[in-house]
Amino acid sequence: MTHLYPNLINGELVTTDASLDVVNPANEQVIGRVPSCGAAELDRAVAAARAAFKTWSKTPVDDRRAVIRNMAAAIDANFDELFRLLTSEQGKPHAQAQYEIGGCSAMMNGQSTLTLEETINEDTDERLSRTRRVPVGVVAGIVPWNFPLLMAVQKIAPAILSGCTMVLKPSPFTPLTTLRFAELIKDIVPAGVVNIITGEDSLGPLMTSHPDVDKITFTGSTATGKKIMEGASKDLKRITLELGGNDASIVLPDADVAKVAEQLFWSSFTNAGQICVAAKRIYIHEDIYDEMSAAIAEYARTVTVGDGANQGTGVGPIQNKKQFDRVCELIEDAKSNGYKFLVGGNVDPSGSGYYVPITILDNPPEDARIVAEEQFGPVMPLMKFSTDDEVIARANNSDYGLAGAVWTKDTDRGVAIAEQLETGTVWINEFLHLTPFAPFGGHKQSGFGAEYGVEGLQEFTYSQVITIKRDALV
Ligand code: NAD
Repeated sequence: MTHLYPNLINGELVTTDASLDVVNPANEQVIGRVPSCGAAELDRAVAAARAAFKTWSKTPVDDRRAVIRNMAAAIDANFDELFRLLTSEQGKPHAQAQYEIGGCSAMMNGQSTLTLEETINEDTDERLSRTRRVPVGVVAGIVPWNFPLLMAVQKIAPAILSGCTMVLKPSPFTPLTTLRFAELIKDIVPAGVVNIITGEDSLGPLMTSHPDVDKITFTGSTATGKKIMEGASKDLKRITLELGGNDASIVLPDADVAKVAEQLFWSSFTNAGQICVAAKRIYIHEDIYDEMSAAIAEYARTVTVGDGANQGTGVGPIQNKKQFDRVCELIEDAKSNGYKFLVGGNVDPSGSGYYVPITILDNPPEDARIVAEEQFGPVMPLMKFSTDDEVIARANNSDYGLAGAVWTKDTDRGVAIAEQLETGTVWINEFLHLTPFAPFGGHKQSGFGAEYGVEGLQEFTYSQVITIKRDALV
């Protein structure tokens, strides 16, 4: 029998009679079990969070910062165990798992330094008016399977820094690293302030419709985000939604092919392409298209697909069977339409593990499914363009609006393009760079609200204006 990882409710490690199996996507072996919570366990977790809120919301902010930093230190102290566990449940190569685990403590430490300042609206002989921020209360956090621990801690840190308490649910596909983290923080965070519970997808709607939850912070697909928004409308819960993306990279004719090809590759294939802000459409200027696409393809052939625990693996398996089937379907669609493949395209169905070969398409049409839809896998379409106006229109021709990039030596031209892209983030000459200090959020159907930075922290608070009529009593 594999190890059962307990949940954290009200400062105690607890299990349920029913459990869910967790599978290693590299070999489809069961590597652990987790509790399968339902309404009863959720009620206990929410009640614990509600009770803890009374004290925690009044705890001095510097004490709250210290708790967050102690949690980050616990991650650092258990770095090796955590990154190996992460690879075994998520599939990403060890180096990328190390990057995620290192990013978790960096994110928590960074967020712990943020401050919500009071603002003065009026300071006259007649009146003093100031705006302060107050925590919303009990927060439900729901996270996906692509960066399980990072997505969890980047919600936990600002929530509890603001004075809120939390009930967090990892994805049923990748709960193990987060539950190991729960064990590590059990004696660091006061009982009830952070509760971590696991269950099927069906636990999600129970959380978002729970009458004693005040706010939902969600990262996942746009389809689920819409359901959450609909559910939250019943009692006007506050929401933050970080959703899907179909991010465009625009490569201008002056980009240095030798320098940029490898970076463009990793902007799409890191984490086997399973990143909301991965470059999912790459537009290359026609003057350098042939040279750049050949350089990307040549580099791609040097990268090994395999078990993330093996040394030398650059691209791991797809995290789960459902996503594997979806990526295979998109590749089959491209084949049946006769699109040209520069690299890959042939999935080997024999053997175990959800492996998709690195696949690069050569200038498929704009309405191809592989271009128009978020692939979320190691499949990248390269497309040719002629003018800045044309490529801006093509990049913006999407319901998504998460991020984008421009690659050029001419940063003025890059910024001019960036300012016309309908996305929450635009990078010039890099990709995937996120920091605890800059707000990150989607335009259009990529999200609602923001995470990170003071703006992200504010999302866990209400504003309250207090006004004193100074001359009323004299
Ligand atoms: P998903 O929407 O299927 O699931 C995300 C989480 O929601 C899981 O924990 C799941 O159990 C839960 N859930 C499922 N149905 C629910 C419901 N009806 N109510 C409440 N919760 C429910 O997403 P996924 O497949 O796990 O993740 C992939 C998606 O996440 C991609 O679209 C990707 O772009 C997006 N994503 C976005 C960001 C971002 O920051 N914008 C980051 C990572 C991933």
